[in-house]
Amino acid sequence: MLNLARFHGGLHLPNNKELSNQAPLRQASIPKKLVYPLMQRQGVTVDPKIQVGERVLRGQVIAYSDHPLATPVHAASSGVIEAIEERLIPHPSGMADLCIVIATDGLDESLVTQGVADFRSQDPASIRTAIKNAGIVGLGGAAFPTSIKLNPGPQRKLDTLLLNGAECEPYITCDDCLMQNQPESVLVGAQILLHSLHIERCIVAIEDHMKRAYARLTQVVAALNDPRIIVVQVPAIYPTGGEKQLIKVVTGKETPSGGIPADIGVLCVNVGTASAVYDAVCNGKPLTERVITVTGRGVKEPQNRYVRIGTPISELIEQCGGYTEHVERLIMGGPMMGFALPDDEIAVVKATNCILAGTAADINTGKQAMPCIRCGDCAKACPVDLLPQQLYWHSRAGNLDKCKEFSLFDCIECGCCEVVCPSHIPLVQYYRSAKSKVIAKAKEAEKAAVAKRRHDMHLERKAKEQAEKAERARLKKEALAKVKQANAEKEGVTQ
Ligand code: SF4
Ligand code: SF4
Repeated sequence: MLNLARFHGGLHLPNNKELSNQAPLRQASIPKKLVYPLMQRQGVTVDPKIQVGERVLRGQVIAYSDHPLATPVHAASSGVIEAIEERLIPHPSGMADLCIVIATDGLDESLVTQGVADFRSQDPASIRTAIKNAGIVGLGGAAFPTSIKLNPGPQRKLDTLLLNGAECEPYITCDDCLMQNQPESVLVGAQILLHSLHIERCIVAIEDHMKRAYARLTQVVAALNDPRIIVVQVPAIYPTGGEKQLIKVVTGKETPSGGIPADIGVLCVNVGTASAVYDAVCNGKPLTERVITVTGRGVKEPQNRYVRIGTPISELIEQCGGYTEHVERLIMGGPMMGFALPDDEIAVVKATNCILAGTAADINTGKQAMPCIRCGDCAKACPVDLLPQQLYWHSRAGNLDKCKEFSLFDCIECGCCEVVCPSHIPLVQYYRSAKSKVIAKAKEAEKAAVAKRRHDMHLERKAKEQAEKAERARLKKEALAKVKQANAEKEGVTQ
């Protein structure tokens, strides 16, 4: 029995999960096209490893890069590479970028792959390599490469694996659905992670309303007879599923500002990621599909589906009965931390956990922002214990140093402050914009430092060349003077 702690702030939100968690988990059909952006997390880009016109098989690597934060992209079905062209990508800015487009052939032919019969016989390095080669990233939404998380460095000692099944955003039920339908893959995935990091304890944390998932998980834990794994139910207070908040609730430990969970001995992994690890290691399957919630009152048949990465959202919505006439906005992610999409031809990526086709009832639209009345409600709601009002003033004034001083980068953009703000100020927009400005300024400063270094080196080189030239001139003059003197002496002797 674990003693649970509480984090500061947070909110009880209407969760609207019943919209999508009543229908059975289904397999989405193969879309006509699969679309893969070459840009990944934090602007890292991968290079195409195929050519237009080439036929590819499911599981084949179609893009890759040696950048440490890059993960390989695998085709999710067989077909022909139709184009490598600019298309809208799922990004809060609504930007376009290069994408690989596969015209699928419906045959769904796969590369032949094989997993390992007994993961316990594998050394940690080969498990990490299998996870890296399978292109696995955090499926909770952050999309951070899992193989990097599994290499915390020699100075950090991990003692707890925390499986995050506390799906705290309203509307989203993909993790709940996965745990109900595939508890074995989640828990064997956890065993693989325990084995690869020599960790002796695993806590699977789920929210207390996930009754069926709790029953299925505890049943499988008993069948596995693994005393290292326990399943705990945590109160449904948004954002309990935030990594740092969940760690606090379950272990009572605080992750230091600017630090990572490994600093306090915890490895926190989403339940979907653990299931993907199982598939990669035991079945040799790369990450080509995931469970996605399609929900909101703007879609006729909300549900969860196994969806191939690269599927255009329009096809997914079509498979869920199409739009209702009241749809107002399409959001990737949940209503709190997701972002609006400009177009439904955009394709799902590994980080896509939910497509919310929202009506006015689902999303907070059109409320007029009013001046801040300094009520302080935002600070009471902030789960990170920040001062959102101050962050707002400084972001608004463009005072980026002050924003940093008030720990702007600790903000998890959960939106709690915005929900409680009686003046309806779009606070998170201000924080996001301030963060991008700080990042852009840092990049500019880095560029300027590189340019200055180049300029200084150029000046040094020039000064050295001039000194060498002057030395050569001096030596030449000296030599000439010697020759002149020798000639003069010679002439004197002759006369
Ligand atoms: S969005 Fe940021 S400032 Fe606002 S409550 Fe969440 S963590 Fe705090
Ligand atoms: S909740 Fe809104 S109005 Fe109140 S202090 Fe915060 S920003 Fe100002």
